[in-house]
Amino acid sequence: MRDGEQTPGVAFTAKEKIAIAVALDAAGVHQIEAGVPAMGPVEVDVLRRVVAAVERASVVAWCRADRRDVDAAVASGVDAAHLTIPASDLHLRTKLGKDRAWARARIRDCVLDATDRGLRVSVGFEDASRADDGFVIDLAGELRRLGVTRFRWADTVGVANPITLHTRLRALLDAVPGPWEIHAHDDFGLATANTIAAVQAGFTWVSTTVAGLGERAGNAPTEEVAMALRHLLGLPVDLDTAAFRPLARLVAGASRRPVPAGKAVVGDAVFDHESGIHVHGVLRAPATYEPFDPAEVGARRRLVLGKHSGRAAVRHAMDRHGIDAPDEDLEPIVGLVRAHATVYKQPLSSDQLRAMARRVASRRGARPRRG
Ligand SMILES: [Zn+2]
Repeated sequence: MRDGEQTPGVAFTAKEKIAIAVALDAAGVHQIEAGVPAMGPVEVDVLRRVVAAVERASVVAWCRADRRDVDAAVASGVDAAHLTIPASDLHLRTKLGKDRAWARARIRDCVLDATDRGLRVSVGFEDASRADDGFVIDLAGELRRLGVTRFRWADTVGVANPITLHTRLRALLDAVPGPWEIHAHDDFGLATANTIAAVQAGFTWVSTTVAGLGERAGNAPTEEVAMALRHLLGLPVDLDTAAFRPLARLVAGASRRPVPAGKAVVGDAVFDHESGIHVHGVLRAPATYEPFDPAEVGARRRLVLGKHSGRAAVRHAMDRHGIDAPDEDLEPIVGLVRAHATVYKQPLSSDQLRAMARRVASRRGARPRRG
């Protein structure tokens, strides 16, 4: 809710933020980064309402390493504060005109302040992927002794790659046990891959957004990461995965960013099958062309008739809609289905299929029977 809303042009109303928080909570999300209290009294008020509305999840406020931000976090009633500090020299020098010594002193002060005031504190190393690992290790080691509960390793501009990241994060964990959290951006389409690589390296927290909403190309999508953790790594995922698709639609509506039809897990068309070979396979055993049961994410398999349909799919669709035809009609019906798809570029309705069957039957001087 923080990084997602940070997307240019996206602004949630209080009502939308509360609805999203409640839905995330109901889905079993462990911690919700709900906003930036330093934005002012309106955001503080929304955070207070989010805290009141959420039943199980921890609510964390995003803060810069600035005491005023910690003040605002305390005022918002959250149980946790995430304090962020630029880790790369590029960010420190270019963005702030500061150096590593400044960063060290600044984050130290803020951590002490926030823990003194009863907040659970996590620290985020912004642009960690372009930072000197030695600096991050030193700083994390020092902050750990001050009571920081978790560290976030941010691939702020999405430049990590999963193979080298794995080695790098193993070394980091060897030096500072953590717990560590991965925060990956998707500028090269690698956010999910990098998140999974971090978990394989030993990271125990993942920072994600619904449908990957976020700055530029967005973040690692919650639903992709969850399903990959469960099915590719065999890890227990205690989220209500059937809530992913409604959640994606809720966020899409509030952000005015429609979910692409082919978006992994939550896209409308990701459980559609059209090509003859695939439909034939799926009808025999769904696992041939589905990595998991669509029902797991509250979706249904759809067999779509189109340019790549074969006899099995057409026969299956006709059976399902009670359209009867002899085998000899099947081939010409398939021909009509393919021609239709090429012209109209959309799936066929049952009425259109019925009309095709009738046309083929009348050509050979018979009427199709209705089942
Ligand atoms: Zn981010």
